[in-house]
Amino acid sequence: MTFDVAILGAGPAGLAAARAAARSGKSIVLIDDNFAPGGQIWRGASQIELPSGVRFYPQTRLFAVDPGFTLHTEPLGTIHTTTLILATGARELFLPFPGWTLPGVFGAGGLQALVKAGADIKGKRVLVAGSGPLLLAVAATLRKRGARIAGIAEQANFGTVVSFLKKYPAKLPQAIALRARLIGVPYMTGVWPTRFEPRQVTLSTGRTLKIDYLACGFGLVPNTEVAQHLGCRLDDGFVAVDSRQRTTVDNVYCAGEPTGIGGLDKALEEGERAGAAATGQPVSRKRSHTGAFVRDLAATFALHHQLYSLAGPETILCRCEQVTHATLAPYREWRDAKLQTRCGMGACQGRICGPIVHHLFGWTATSIRPPLVPVPAASLLTTETPPEPENDRSDNAHPSNP
Ligand SMILES: Cc1cc2nc3c(=O)[nH]c(=O)nc-3n(C[C@H](O)[C@H](O)[C@H](O)COP(=O)(O)OP(=O)(O)OC[C@H]3O[C@@H](n4cnc5c(N)ncnc54)[C@H](O)[C@@H]3O)c2cc1C
Repeated sequence: MTFDVAILGAGPAGLAAARAAARSGKSIVLIDDNFAPGGQIWRGASQIELPSGVRFYPQTRLFAVDPGFTLHTEPLGTIHTTTLILATGARELFLPFPGWTLPGVFGAGGLQALVKAGADIKGKRVLVAGSGPLLLAVAATLRKRGARIAGIAEQANFGTVVSFLKKYPAKLPQAIALRARLIGVPYMTGVWPTRFEPRQVTLSTGRTLKIDYLACGFGLVPNTEVAQHLGCRLDDGFVAVDSRQRTTVDNVYCAGEPTGIGGLDKALEEGERAGAAATGQPVSRKRSHTGAFVRDLAATFALHHQLYSLAGPETILCRCEQVTHATLAPYREWRDAKLQTRCGMGACQGRICGPIVHHLFGWTATSIRPPLVPVPAASLLTTETPPEPENDRSDNAHPSNP
């Protein structure tokens, strides 16, 4: 299959890119690993209309890209294109504390996704904890579906959250609307979970709460693996783009959370700009979402240093391979730890434990290799990805890197 433009990710950014690109009359393909378009925020929404002329493939995962571009997807197979728009979104950041891998602990957005997909939460007592605006959205969704919210534990201080809202008053109505759906639910600031035992959580204040579930997420981590695989430059962990959403690799554009965690409006604006630019249409000069907002959001919800020392020696850091803190502590970098302990070599391929070891030990992944997601061996046999040179372990090892 050959298309003029391929868009990876059908969240708000990818959908906005598809709408803009479709105006050009070029052939567009949109792929996403979920059952339906919508990404994280519109998961389960029924009214998402795709522009005519856009071919959408759900439940399709990209696991490798060859120069040129040949996209290797599972289970669809190979797609050829000359222009690529990456709108791969973000995932939650988990930080380990004793008990965080026990049944009853969920990612905050993860539990929300399960509930949106039909999981029954009625009558369950839930503490929503961690950091960021997502906590309010999760608590509101869970309450609407019948959960009893024991509280929201936000690790940031009340003062910094209020200062942020004062600086960005346009965000206030959204915050008030969410809070209105949570009347009676305590919003605790400067508080985080320190231990979970079945049906009980201990908070940093020393208080314990009886709960059924702990829904916990400490912010978002951009999904930059595909961009890194292509050789796109990252700045401070985010994909570097210019005012037309162009990355540092020719004909690769990026929009939404991978360029900076900034929420729905930023994702929509960048998606529109990427779709227009990638198809040779005029791009609006107006930018209402700037780097300053992204930086202020990150500063407001910056993580308290004590969160990095909650794990005990026996606390698991890599849950796929069951590797504990004590096992990893003697190593100096992730590559050594991976080779000796298998940390990061399980099914999540370091998506969960990578950010954890980065925050706890300062380690960073040195290379991103295909397959980018686990795929059946039969699919791998169809790839044409050239082997990585023996002596090149850098993040920019892809042949298309200028
Ligand atoms: C778990 C979670 C829950 C969230 N819930 C809310 C909420 O309730 N309210 C709110 O305001 N904001 C929420 N957010 C934040 C929200 O996602 C952003 O504000 C914004 O909407 C992101 O848009 P996006 O298009 O950049 O990314 P996303 O909406 O994340 O879309 C990216 C899409 O790309 C797909 N994708 C990624 N990699 C691949 C691949 N290799 N192959 C195929 N498909 C791929 C993903 O499955 C996803 O569908 C949530 C974020 C997360 C991580």
